[in-house]
Amino acid sequence: MATRSFNLVIAVDGPAASGKGTIAKAIARHYGLPHMDTGALYRAVGLAVLRRGGSPADAGVAEAAARALDLSLLEDHALRDAATSEAASGVAVHPGVRQALFDLQRSFAAQPGGAVLDGRDIGTVIAPDAVAKLFVTASDAVRSTRRQAELASRGEIRGFDEVLADLRRRDARDSDRDAAPLAQAADAALLDTSDLAIDAAVQRAVALVEQRIGAMRERG
Ligand code: C5P
Repeated sequence: MATRSFNLVIAVDGPAASGKGTIAKAIARHYGLPHMDTGALYRAVGLAVLRRGGSPADAGVAEAAARALDLSLLEDHALRDAATSEAASGVAVHPGVRQALFDLQRSFAAQPGGAVLDGRDIGTVIAPDAVAKLFVTASDAVRSTRRQAELASRGEIRGFDEVLADLRRRDARDSDRDAAPLAQAADAALLDTSDLAIDAAVQRAVALVEQRIGAMRERG
């Protein structure tokens, strides 16, 4: 890996099933950087609340679960279930939950050499000074087809319309909340993966990151 005179922090944000996780992992591999899937943290908090029989809408319960985050839940088989997605988005609206998860994400981003993080607020809140920011999108139909296939591969068979409605509800909640809503940072490059196969999307993402690295080197 080339030695750099700067920490290569790369922020990858976007709505559910846009391809941001796959792209973030591939970019991390390409640059030899560690990767953090920040959505998994919110999923773990949501899952902890569900397992305690609590409601994700209850700010106190959700914040307590975030403060006592059980990292073993990141390996739990239910982490990617549809019910956990919904609970994650439910707990993510609470500022206390976001605050509880902030330091973990911020210190991951600040490690020497840099890091790749994907989520909803990486370019806007967690790593506003990231060298490169990508905002990954895809059409609703493409995202729904991808999520439906992902759920099916894990044995959760769901109809296209039901999955689409879930995605739209979650996007709306993530975008409309007051605390760190899903938003494209002003300096983020937009990458629409609707018509791109994985390899092409990753190539395009690396090209966008290279542009940002080049621009930074020119600025000195
Ligand atoms: O990325 P993923 O779909 O796994 O995220 C699950 C949920 O976690 C999102 O719908 C969102 O509500 C929340 N999230 C967030 N901020 C992040 C990452 C995820 O609010 N940085």
